[in-house]
Amino acid sequence: MKWSFRVCRVAGIDVRIHITFLLLPLFFGWSGWQEGGAAGAGNEIVFILALFLCVLLHEFGHALAGRHYGIPTPDITLLPFGGVARMTRIPSRPLQELVIAVAGPAVNVAIAGVLGILLFAGGGLFSGPPTPERLFLQQLLTVNAGLVLFNMIPAFPMDGGRILRAVLAMGCGHFRATQIAARVGQVLAVGFAAAGFFTNPMLVLIGLFVFSGAQDELAYARFLHEYENTRAEA
Ligand SMILES: [Zn+2]
Repeated sequence: MKWSFRVCRVAGIDVRIHITFLLLPLFFGWSGWQEGGAAGAGNEIVFILALFLCVLLHEFGHALAGRHYGIPTPDITLLPFGGVARMTRIPSRPLQELVIAVAGPAVNVAIAGVLGILLFAGGGLFSGPPTPERLFLQQLLTVNAGLVLFNMIPAFPMDGGRILRAVLAMGCGHFRATQIAARVGQVLAVGFAAAGFFTNPMLVLIGLFVFSGAQDELAYARFLHEYENTRAEA
């Protein structure tokens, strides 16, 4: 991916950061500073980095599930609105796509579970002594739950949309399934962007990303479909 640089290599996968990702700690650090000085800035930055560690682990969930089916992932790139695991090819069977799509959110379910156990042990999930450490874990638990719910929205090519395509593909084939999932994804993307105009500019970005992503995936599926047709005729 252009404008990104390599940070480290884990399990044979390059972890990259897009240059725009750096805006995130800057923005959150600045807003933390306004509220609570240096300590506030530090808290916000630590939290946003912890959140993106969860996003990175989510992407590793996809990548390692893909590897299980013989699909390598050369790199994972972190962007301000999430992560992208770049797989070398799409899974050939709908069931494989289903497992790979579910593996990401499943990681966040596991993280939320571990955080929940830690909080319970310390006096209750959202009760108990309101120490800074507990507030941190509670917030992290909430955003992990949010990540799971958000990713389950069937906005192809987000995870929920991939799950939708995989399920549809079991009945009507890869190309038709992609057509339907891409249309559903683009309608939802327009909805994200419209909602984002009034609430959060990040949603506008996500809407644009989903819309163009669905378009690209549809073009690729059409290419594969036509290629297979010409091969069948030959
Ligand atoms: Zn995912």
